[in-house]
Amino acid sequence: MSDKHYSFFGAVERSFDKAARFTKWDSGLLNQIRQCNSVLQLRFPIKRDNGEIEVIEAYRVQHSHHKTPCKGGIRFAAEVNQDEVMALAALMTYKCTIVNVPFGGGKGGIKIDPKKYSAGELERITRRYTSELIKKNFIGPGTDVPAPDYGTGEREMSWILDTYVSMRPGEVDAAGCVTGKPITQGGVRGRREATGLGVFYGTREVCNIPDIMNKLGLPIGIENKRVVVQGLGNVGYWAAHFFQKAGAKVIALAEYEGAIVDEKGLDVEAVFQHRKKTGSILDYPGATNIKKSTEALELDCDILIPAALENVINGENAPRIKAKIIGEGANGPLTPEADDHFAKKGTIVIPDMYLNAGGVTVSYFEWLKNLSHVRYGRMEKRFTENVNSSILNQLEELTGKKSNDHARKLIMHGPDEVDLVYSGLEETMINATHEIMNAWRENPAIPDMRTAAYVVAINKVATIYAELGIFP
Ligand code: GLU
Repeated sequence: MSDKHYSFFGAVERSFDKAARFTKWDSGLLNQIRQCNSVLQLRFPIKRDNGEIEVIEAYRVQHSHHKTPCKGGIRFAAEVNQDEVMALAALMTYKCTIVNVPFGGGKGGIKIDPKKYSAGELERITRRYTSELIKKNFIGPGTDVPAPDYGTGEREMSWILDTYVSMRPGEVDAAGCVTGKPITQGGVRGRREATGLGVFYGTREVCNIPDIMNKLGLPIGIENKRVVVQGLGNVGYWAAHFFQKAGAKVIALAEYEGAIVDEKGLDVEAVFQHRKKTGSILDYPGATNIKKSTEALELDCDILIPAALENVINGENAPRIKAKIIGEGANGPLTPEADDHFAKKGTIVIPDMYLNAGGVTVSYFEWLKNLSHVRYGRMEKRFTENVNSSILNQLEELTGKKSNDHARKLIMHGPDEVDLVYSGLEETMINATHEIMNAWRENPAIPDMRTAAYVVAINKVATIYAELGIFP
C-alpha cells in the first residue's frame, strides 16, 4: 500500500471531506472553511558570516479569518514548503476551534536547516522575516500571532518581539504580537512544557473512558501503561516526563539516531541528560539499542506517541504497529492510509488537532496576560491564602484538632501563575475530549476520533460563518 499521492495539505483536505459528510453544511460554505485565506510567499536576502549573500525562502499562511488574530507557530526546517505550511495552518484553525481558543489558524515556515547556521545568522534571518511580516501586515497582536514550532523556541520569539517593538514603538499591546516568549519578555509560566503536558492530559482522559478501554482490553487509567515516545524534542520530552510522573512506564524512547528500550521503564530525565552528554540516545546504561529509529514505532506497547515530524506512520508500516492507542504529539504523523488501517483494526488514534493543542491553549493564556498587562495570580493569591487560612482556623477551633504543617500549606496555598496555567489547560483538554467523544457517540457511523474531531471543528466554524450571515 503506497500513499505517496497525497500532499500534506491534500491529506488534511481528505480528512476534512471525510468528516464534512457527517455535517449538514452546504458545499460552498464547507469550501470556504477548508481553503487557505491568505498565503504569503517570501524571498529575502541575508548575509552569511563569510560575507556571502543567501536568498531565503519563507512563508506565512493564514488559513482562516473567522476569528482574529490568526495563530500558529513558525518552523525552521530544510523541508519547509508552501503545501506543508498550508496544511499546518489549516490544522491550527481546527485545533483552536476544538479547544475553544478564539483564533483563526496560521502557520509560518522558513526553509533552512537551523543546525547549519550560526546564532548570529539565525538572528538576522528571524529579524528580517519579522520585518517582512510587519510590512505585509502579517503580524500583530490583533492580526496574526506567531509562536514556536519545530526548530524554533523562546530565543527566536524574543527576536521577533524585539523587531516588532522597534518598528512599532509605543504600541501598548505589542508584547501580544508573539507567544512562547521567555518569561522576562512577557512569556507565561508553563508555556514551555504546555504541548507535552496537553498530550499527557488528553491521553490520560481517553484512558479514563470505560467503554474505550473495555474495547481495547486495557484497564482504566494511565498507571502502568507501557508507553513508547518518538522524538525527545520539546513535545516528546515533556510528554514522556508527565507520563512517567503519573506512573506510566516509558519503555522506549526514539530519536533520529536510534532508539532505546527497557521494559522496566526508562528514567526520561536521565536519558535526556545522557543524550546531551554523549550526543546520542544510544548506549544508555541498562537499555537495549535499536539502531533503526523507525522500528521503535513497531514495538509492542499500550500507547505510542509520535512526537517528531509528519508522515512517519503510513500505509507501509501501519500494519506492523502494535500499539493500542496512538497519540499524535506531532502534527500529521499519520497518513490517511494509516488512519484507514487503524479505524478498521480498532486502534484508537488520538488526533493531533486535539491532542497537541496544549501549546496554543497556553499561548492563548500568554496573549491574554500580555493584553491585560498583569501576571496570573497577582491579584488573588494573597486574598485566597487569607480566606483559606481563616476557614482552616475556624475548622480547627470547632473540631479542636490541629492539621499538620504539610496539610496546612496545601490547604492555604493561593494560586501561582503556573498553577492557573496548568489547571486551565487540564480543564480545556478534558472538556475537548468529551466534546469529541460525544460527537462520536451521537453518530456511530463516524469511523474514528479524528473524523469526530473534524466534525466538531467544522460545526463550530460553520456556525460562526452562518451566524455572521455572510452567505445570504
Ligand atoms: N506550534 C504550536 C502548534 O503547532 C503552537 C502554536 C501556538 O502556540 O500558536 O500548535
